[in-house]
Amino acid sequence: MKTLTYLFGGLFLFFLVLSCNNTPYQSGAAKLDPVIEKRVDSLLSLMNLQEKVGQMTQYNGSWDVTGPIPKGGDNEMKYAHIQNGMVGSMLNVVGSNATRKAQELAVNDSRLGIPLLFGYDVVHGYKTMFPLPLAEAASWDLAAIERSARMAAVEAASAGLHWTFAPMVDITRDARWGRVMEGAGEDPYLGSLIAAARVKGFQGDDLSDKQTIAACAKHFAGYGFAEGGRDYNTVEINEHTLENIVFPPFKAALDAGVATVMNSFNEIGGQPVTSNAYLQKEVLKERWGFNGFVVSDWGTVAELISHGVAENPKAATRMAVNAGCDMDMESLAYVNELKELVEEGSVPMANIDAAVRRILRLKFQLGLFEDPYRYSNPAAEKQDLMRTEHLEAARDIGRKSIVLLKNEDNILPLSKDIQTIAVIGPLANDRDSPLGSWRAKATKNSAVSLLEGLKETASANTEILYAEGCKLAVGKRSFANELTINQSDKSGFPAAIAAARRADVVLLAIGEDAWQTGEGRSQMDIGLAGVQEELLQAVYKVNPKVVVVLMNGRPLTFNWAADNVPAIVEAWHLGHMAGMSIADVLWGDYNPGGKLPMSFPYHVGQCPLYYNHKSTGRPSTEPGLVFYSHYTDGPNEARFPFGFGLSYTNFSYGTPSLSTTRLTNDNTIEVSVTVTNTGERKGEEVVQLYVRDLVGSVTRPVKELKGFKKIELAPGGKETVSFTLTAQDLAYYTANKKWEAEAGDFMLYIGTNSRDVQEHPFELLAAQ
Ligand code: BGC
Repeated sequence: MKTLTYLFGGLFLFFLVLSCNNTPYQSGAAKLDPVIEKRVDSLLSLMNLQEKVGQMTQYNGSWDVTGPIPKGGDNEMKYAHIQNGMVGSMLNVVGSNATRKAQELAVNDSRLGIPLLFGYDVVHGYKTMFPLPLAEAASWDLAAIERSARMAAVEAASAGLHWTFAPMVDITRDARWGRVMEGAGEDPYLGSLIAAARVKGFQGDDLSDKQTIAACAKHFAGYGFAEGGRDYNTVEINEHTLENIVFPPFKAALDAGVATVMNSFNEIGGQPVTSNAYLQKEVLKERWGFNGFVVSDWGTVAELISHGVAENPKAATRMAVNAGCDMDMESLAYVNELKELVEEGSVPMANIDAAVRRILRLKFQLGLFEDPYRYSNPAAEKQDLMRTEHLEAARDIGRKSIVLLKNEDNILPLSKDIQTIAVIGPLANDRDSPLGSWRAKATKNSAVSLLEGLKETASANTEILYAEGCKLAVGKRSFANELTINQSDKSGFPAAIAAARRADVVLLAIGEDAWQTGEGRSQMDIGLAGVQEELLQAVYKVNPKVVVVLMNGRPLTFNWAADNVPAIVEAWHLGHMAGMSIADVLWGDYNPGGKLPMSFPYHVGQCPLYYNHKSTGRPSTEPGLVFYSHYTDGPNEARFPFGFGLSYTNFSYGTPSLSTTRLTNDNTIEVSVTVTNTGERKGEEVVQLYVRDLVGSVTRPVKELKGFKKIELAPGGKETVSFTLTAQDLAYYTANKKWEAEAGDFMLYIGTNSRDVQEHPFELLAAQ
């Protein structure tokens, strides 16, 4: 019989703890459950060193690999290690049967029967795919974003998973970086709210609920700032950018109760993050009081050797553990090296206990000691995957994520009486690309394509022609046999041109294949790959009534289209119901209200590009001069700025009013603006509030988002939108190396995007 103390001791300990006023476990900022803490203590006291190291070890189930497989990582060895209590967690073991089988090895065969924790990248859905996270961020709809994470959690939990490696909360400013699709874009305020919404969606209110899973805020920290946008590359970042831009979404995820944090591949200031005690210990655990655990990113412990700071796996292990990296994902370093390091005194036992405590805590919180198989339920799995309500929600958040970039002469929405539509392009009938990158267990080719969505929703009066135009083919530098958009084949052009000639309007679906974005898919060029632009021009020549429907995972450059075609719809990779969501928007059954969460450049040479940049000593306000900060061959500004998105209706903004222009620590400024729908359709608008701190102790961004409200107005309808601004909202990491609001002059901006705003000055008075 295994010892029952930690299994059933909770009740006794509960009474014991009730009798103590001063609970020693509540040292950090976040509250701990004293009952769980006592159960962790009890279990820790029974574990030998090898078993503790085991809890700190995570293995990949090698049949579904998301990174390079380390030498010696075969399944047989892994099974034996699980049976010997040498593994705490598995990633990429999914499905109720597979997880149960692996769990049985741990629970029945290991000495203490400690259950495994099953983790997986449930990034934008498990079986049902929702829009890419970047696309969802364009909805600015926190409730919808939380709902999509909730549904993903329900599916994942029913397939035996306890833990998702999401949300990715890295701020992303460089469209060349393939992983921009996985985050919420370039703004720390929006990114923080979305981080919290996703954590709440995955984790719900109670981790022990069978339909919730633990979340993981990643990648801590600075991963989105890879030089040149090249994945895994060196990061050069200063402490002000870290504090003011990179940290806030992580802090927000922590405040929302995120259970775990993943570190990152990059270095900062010459120290790889995995061996960086400042980030993992000082900031995360000490300053912020995080009491979950830090998992390494894939192989980052061993990668300390390639970074050139560790000479061998043993040194890498010592550095990582002592720096606060609690779990080793697939480096096979802790399992091989850590015991000896503790025995010889280079890693203090206290560091091991601290890490194991954090890991066991989560297992208790998830209820795994009550029932290690509670998530592995084939009946629930059958019932919960691809539920109708999940697909309906995917369609809804899909249309909320669409951004209307251009709509000249109201060419959109399309009339349902239209006679002939030509649907053209390599992505027009692609059922795979909309599933996007990081698609978890989605079945290949299972999305509703644009063509299918249109056919499903068109009236009987409309004839829909289809021509692919150019094909998808295996790309030169793509991974395995993934498809990328063909570089040269124009044999489909004549059919496309013929269809365009016959049609009243052309819908041209172009952009990126799913595998052009995501991890390891950085690009030097972010234009329309292959012959897509040539196809567009050829079609436009015979029929200029072209609506470009973009499907992509990152900001792209498409100046010819933006200059010439009458309408452009940014439809991202929207998941399973992509075709339906896009059709809803094209017909006007849904009036688009999405706003860009990342700036779209004119040219890749502008990257990194972001609206909340610094002024510089020579800001670009005087065209015609040479010696100011600008390019001689193109603009500084974005082609489509952060926060931009049109509607089928028009909104007019009244003059903003401020309750006072003198803010103190004791009062607030109520900012109001009346927005009127002056068009003929019901529509949604995201009213945006920005602030500029005109003089700081260090340089400040030219604008910072401080609030937004999404409203819906009927034709002719008006609403007065109000924001409350406090001194605290103006706080930032100052020259004093702390978060504080500095007295002085500010400018407030209100508008429909980060560029088109009205301004109003105000002042923050010094503390009395
Ligand atoms: C990625 C992580 C991911 C992990 C596990 C890594 O390569 O950077 O974001 O969670 O693999 O799949």
